[in-house]
Amino acid sequence: MDCIFCKIIKGDVPSYKVYENEHVYAFLDISQGTRGHTLVIPKKHADSIYDLNRTHAQEVFKVIPDLANALKKAFNPIGINIISNNEQPYQTVNHFHLHLLPRYDEDGLTLSMINNRSSYEQKDYVEVLDAIKHAMK
Ligand code: AMP
Ligand code: ZN
Repeated sequence: MDCIFCKIIKGDVPSYKVYENEHVYAFLDISQGTRGHTLVIPKKHADSIYDLNRTHAQEVFKVIPDLANALKKAFNPIGINIISNNEQPYQTVNHFHLHLLPRYDEDGLTLSMINNRSSYEQKDYVEVLDAIKHAMK
């Protein structure tokens, strides 16, 4: 399979490795969206969150607190965003990954939430809830 992140794990493509264990590989995002921007990936290829199995999900998420604390200690950010883009158009590399993005004053990164609360009534929340619960059955 022609996957750049699989090639990084194998060592066929160079990377700035931050951390590695049996299941997980973490390395600097080449874009350095903010200083310390790190990617964390499962060693076993999964295209996206939709086909990441529970065990590999567990392994990936398990290392996040230590990495986040290391970034905090190293760079003294004002916070950290942990995000994952899945499927098009947001995901550009089809090997599941988490972005760890330390945040700094005026770092120029825009990841803002939208508050649509004013357009939701109780029935709307219940409708959303029912759709999710139904899908989980
Ligand atoms: P996404 O757009 O969420 O799929 O993120 C993919 C990320 O992978 C981008 O932030 C890229 O900068 C990063 N990236 C792509 N190729 C490499 C590479 N060879 N080494 C490190 N990071 C990479
Ligand atoms: Zn891969």
